Amino acid sequence: MTDLYRVSSTQKTTATLINCDDHSKIKAFFARKMKPICGDVVEIEASKSAYVIKKIQKRFNSFCRADNRGRKQHMAANVDQIMIVMAVEPFPTRDILNRYLVTAEHEDIEPILIFNKSDIDSKVFISIINQYEQLGYNVFKTSKDEVASINDIKPLLKDKTTVIVGQSGVGKSSITRVMMPSVVLKTGKLSDKTGKGAHTTSVTQMYYDEPLNANIIDSPGVWEYGLWIMTPHEIAGGFREFQDYLGQCKFSNCTHIHEPQCAIMQAVKDNKIRENRYHSFLRIVDSMKYWA
Ligand code: GDP
Ligand code: ZN
Repeated sequence: MTDLYRVSSTQKTTATLINCDDHSKIKAFFARKMKPICGDVVEIEASKSAYVIKKIQKRFNSFCRADNRGRKQHMAANVDQIMIVMAVEPFPTRDILNRYLVTAEHEDIEPILIFNKSDIDSKVFISIINQYEQLGYNVFKTSKDEVASINDIKPLLKDKTTVIVGQSGVGKSSITRVMMPSVVLKTGKLSDKTGKGAHTTSVTQMYYDEPLNANIIDSPGVWEYGLWIMTPHEIAGGFREFQDYLGQCKFSNCTHIHEPQCAIMQAVKDNKIRENRYHSFLRIVDSMKYWA
């Protein structure tokens, strides 16, 4: 008989697993070429003295980012939602939210946007919050000492697996502590002062919270979030409001950058697509040249 487990974290050749039924933990070995990642559902076999991962079940999606050469690196598997935490301080870097959203749309992960530290400045995010709400995203304005502002998010987490991301210092641990008191995020606190995360392949970790019957996956405390090599077409697919126009360009291989009779550029002119989002799209397309 094989019991089903989910990978909580991985080390070189072992993984910590959480039982899908009773949530007990075990350690299991795996063959190196297997490459299980956090969130994977695995089948195990018990040998004389140890558990061994026999099979990784097919992932329905994965949260990914670029490795240092622009290749797609899978960070966490089978995730329902992504909680993108931003704050007044440190202020979000340019386009970071849209890059996360491109991944989310691409992998069919439901985004939850959180603007934290509203106690420091409650106005700075007003227009951006309006804009993303209009695009149909779930948006929250929070402050760690205003417990009600954080508790509003809790119902969305129930029975789900959520990956929490954002620059280090934005308040991921503080917010999680309020929503899931049993969970203590460790991985945001890298000893590496640059925050670039020397140990980033092993620190992604999944935690189970019993009251919400929910999993939360903490990603490494990286400063920047980079998209792997993508075509303009794929990047445009990550902008929700572009979707209505994508089939209407004159050229079917339109990159929406310079072509005549581009439906996206026309929609920007007609104020149907906000200029700041289109410009962000252009910058993200342009940023792909770093991988060339
Ligand atoms: P993480 O690195 O994203 O997990 O961020 P932490 O939760 O560790 O928070 C980083 C720092 O910001 C800590 O000193 C927190 O006390 C502080 N912090 C977190 N949330 C808030 C907030 O809503 N308002 C203020 N003023 N400080 C906050
Ligand atoms: Zn076009």
